[in-house]
Amino acid sequence: MHLDGSKLNLELAFGQNFGASVVSPVYAAGVPVIGRIDAISTSDFYLDEHGEERYMDGVEVIDWKTTGQVLDVVDEVTGVVTWKGRAKTAAQIASSWQMLAYGEEARRIYDPKEVRLSHVYFQTKRPYSSVKRTSSLSPAVLVDRWAAADELVGRMLVTAGEASVKSVPANLRACKEFGGCPYRDSCPRDARAVFSNLFGGDRVSILERRRAQAVQNSPVRKPRRYNTCPASRRNPGVPLPRPPAAPSPTRYRRGAVRCRACSARCRRPRPS
Ligand code: SF4
Repeated sequence: MHLDGSKLNLELAFGQNFGASVVSPVYAAGVPVIGRIDAISTSDFYLDEHGEERYMDGVEVIDWKTTGQVLDVVDEVTGVVTWKGRAKTAAQIASSWQMLAYGEEARRIYDPKEVRLSHVYFQTKRPYSSVKRTSSLSPAVLVDRWAAADELVGRMLVTAGEASVKSVPANLRACKEFGGCPYRDSCPRDARAVFSNLFGGDRVSILERRRAQAVQNSPVRKPRRYNTCPASRRNPGVPLPRPPAAPSPTRYRRGAVRCRACSARCRRPRPS
């Protein structure tokens, strides 16, 4: 990196807190904006996204970022993104409120012909790497974009004045950001909408379809058959049946024989 150190302003804070009052050169809807810019380069050159030195006629606002994963992880076979990287695109940087506020501050200080807004990402896990994303705005565009902050902060002021959280429309996109919203346990949000937001709208319908399938495919249960035997010990309240009456004693003639078919003693006299 060939940045001229003498033209690099580091840790430039703007906005000051004087007890109860805050004073800043940058305002949005009358609210002072406080920030600390990592670096502003007033050099004639900047490094592009490929590390090449390029000429610039203005200033570059640099914000250093550290993250565990800078770029998207893409499956080599399917081409599907399996892990989303944290690096923003140049267009996203040029429209982020943080960088617009920094750029507006740089514009007021240096009155440049262009304001370059840059993120430099450092990957803190293996494989270690760094990536730069940068975008240039003219002062007129910067002023125009920062003017939209008035409308945003105006809405924030109205929201902050609401008496009940239920009067504020829920921003469900924020529920899972930065490790999850710390107010999620007390938030009166719609549980279905939150689930949809966390896992994607399709997942809800998939879940519901799976449930319906599970109900359909579950084996039909046969009604349980209870032991109705009155003699069963499982029915202790049922009186035991009376044993069948004992057959009256049969008197056999002397010489009666057993029947070959039923083994009963036959009353027929033994054949002579
Ligand atoms: S949990 Fe509630 S308060 Fe938190 S981001 Fe989600 S909707 Fe907003």
